[in-house]
Amino acid sequence: MTTTETDCLFCKISAGQIPAQITYRDDQVLAFKDVGPKAPLHELVIPLRHIATLADTTAEDAALLGRLMVVAAERARESGQASGGFRVVMNAGADAGQSVHHIHLHLLGGRALAWPPG
Ligand code: AMP
Repeated sequence: MTTTETDCLFCKISAGQIPAQITYRDDQVLAFKDVGPKAPLHELVIPLRHIATLADTTAEDAALLGRLMVVAAERARESGQASGGFRVVMNAGADAGQSVHHIHLHLLGGRALAWPPG
């Protein structure tokens, strides 16, 4: 099931109301290129269902969260840009720098990634 929020940027992307470079879609998950890429490979993997932040999830969301990870791995493989490795990260809340309040995995790759992130 999908739920959408009227003012949510990523709900609008999943509804086709705002253009994006879509790389993957199924009945629960969407992936698209980040508009401000921080690495040669930078895609966002989101659930179609609106969930504002990881802190809002419960055990009932476990399968959906798992699907986000599996799709990220699939995109890393299919991109051909992550043979040297890749990173998935989800920012949650203000201190982590979450700017869009619809959960999303960042898939980053195509270059060496420093650790720890800032
Ligand atoms: P975060 O700061 O973790 O919430 O990440 C939000 C991400 O969304 C940033 O990396 C932005 O570059 C990206 N972003 C914002 N607007 C768009 C858009 N219209 N299409 C694709 N990515 C976007």
